Amino acid sequence: MEEQSDLFEDKINFVQDSELEEGDYVNNVFEDRPGLGFVGLKPKYITAMRQIEAAWVQILNALHDSYGLDINDPNFHETPKRISRMMVLERCNGINSENLCRKILGKSFPAMGEREDDQLVVTTNPAIVYSLCPHHFENVEYHIWTGYIPKEKFIGISKFSRVVDLYVRQPKLQESLTSGLVDIIQEELDPKGSIVIVKGWHDCMICRGAKSNPKQCMITSAMRGLFSTPGQHTFKEEFMQLCKQTGL
Ligand SMILES: [Zn+2]
Repeated sequence: MEEQSDLFEDKINFVQDSELEEGDYVNNVFEDRPGLGFVGLKPKYITAMRQIEAAWVQILNALHDSYGLDINDPNFHETPKRISRMMVLERCNGINSENLCRKILGKSFPAMGEREDDQLVVTTNPAIVYSLCPHHFENVEYHIWTGYIPKEKFIGISKFSRVVDLYVRQPKLQESLTSGLVDIIQEELDPKGSIVIVKGWHDCMICRGAKSNPKQCMITSAMRGLFSTPGQHTFKEEFMQLCKQTGL
């Protein structure tokens, strides 16, 4: 994880220092997903940045024309550019990342020494990550618990954090994120069971609209295999007990 975040910082600097000309890109070391260890930008991402930047120039102009927003204030200087980089390199680079998530989980270990009838429930502290609501593009803070009952594969537990942190970087409903994540885990690891529990604090409810209590959150869960098999709720109960020790 540590190594990954250093890379991330370096590459952000690289982009900010470069002219972002189309000939500048080299290739991406992490598939073609910018923001995650890329060493250059493919033209389609440069184009996206320019389009988002142009749209934000229009948004600021509209606020100037309607409310008289002082867009010559130095604080707005380069704001459209900053937002465009943030959207392309950080907030939206999990769009259509299912295959990349599977690849991250693909580096598993054989579950050696496990007895065939062992039903080991594996989980960790929740990943604390940030996403966007698809209706307002407002921030959502998620605490996400993932767990599984291994069959033939173990996974380095940090892989779950990486997958979760990538997958949530997109405007997607909490319900769809929850079931999408559990499907990726179940399909890639083929465990005896998998489970994902998500607690979400939605700024579109807290800062606007209903202006709900900031402590009010939405909880969703999705289960596959033994966790969802009728008559096997002990696995879910055990998982919930483990989660309660880490803040659920
Ligand atoms: Zn919303």
